[in-house]
Amino acid sequence: MAALSAFRKEAQEPLSNVIAVDIGGTRFRVGLFDEGGKRVRVSEDATNRSGGRPWMLAQMEREFRTFQAESGEPIRACGISFGGPVDFAGQQVTSIVAPGWENFPLSSWVKETLGVPCLLDNDANAGALGEYRFGTGRGCESIFYVALSTGIGGGFVCEGKVIRGKDTLAGELGHLPMADSGPRCDCGARGCLEAFSSGSAIGKMAREWGERRTDVMPRMVELSGGAVERVTAREVALAAAEGDPIASRIFRDAARWLGRGLLTVIRIVNPDKIVLGGGVSQAGKLLLDPIHDVLDERKSAALPATTEIVIAELGNYSALYGAVALALDAR
Ligand SMILES: [Zn+2]
Repeated sequence: MAALSAFRKEAQEPLSNVIAVDIGGTRFRVGLFDEGGKRVRVSEDATNRSGGRPWMLAQMEREFRTFQAESGEPIRACGISFGGPVDFAGQQVTSIVAPGWENFPLSSWVKETLGVPCLLDNDANAGALGEYRFGTGRGCESIFYVALSTGIGGGFVCEGKVIRGKDTLAGELGHLPMADSGPRCDCGARGCLEAFSSGSAIGKMAREWGERRTDVMPRMVELSGGAVERVTAREVALAAAEGDPIASRIFRDAARWLGRGLLTVIRIVNPDKIVLGGGVSQAGKLLLDPIHDVLDERKSAALPATTEIVIAELGNYSALYGAVALALDAR
């Protein structure tokens, strides 16, 4: 009887859709999804960074209204992944880097402007949630997601819940202290993981090589259109995949530092999987092989960890799917 009445209740509830938004430093995505998390339609644009907050809010509102008009079902809620610091408890963006975003109550703005409940989180936590619910993390108890792009972020989901910590700083993998010296990080310290393994760090290392010895890296320079100063992690990865020795060495060193960072994650939280997402993770095997070398070198029968290290199943869309999960949780 109980099962039958539950069925009736479900059948009486009208179907609805949700809107997911991924505000990234380079891409701005808005998607319409059904209640099962199935993608109905996604629009994607380059982020107009100089347009700042006004451009982003206008873009979100425009896409929301377009999808609302096209959606056959009412829009129930909105979820947002923001590519910068977020105060989850206060549902505010706290970025001091992007103009106009400091202490901006984005979820309240959505509720007031678009008339639906909204939940907001940073892109690393959203990526973790997206992979946990809809990607390679399905069926896992816990996953640690690593957002590898210009910087390095991390998000930890355990038993369905994002672990945020006292100051919502849990999972800040990019600022693990790897060495007392080394390149200075954006946080002000020296020797952070981000300064060794991020996309920016990989590009910078290649350019430093190029300034000293242009002759040893012709392929990377060719791939970047003939200018050493335009070499980024993308050209390093492409040249390394072709077997270029300097590019391979730069990538391997960066991946080995990351491997040490990931081993720290395994030692502390021993998740089912570590999921590598973000643009740099597209390098796949170039990244995974040196990471596995580091783990193998430190393998111990006394510490038989079975954490798998995998590339994000949702590719560039982990954070957008995380926004879907946030929307489904928003009431
Ligand atoms: Zn740092």
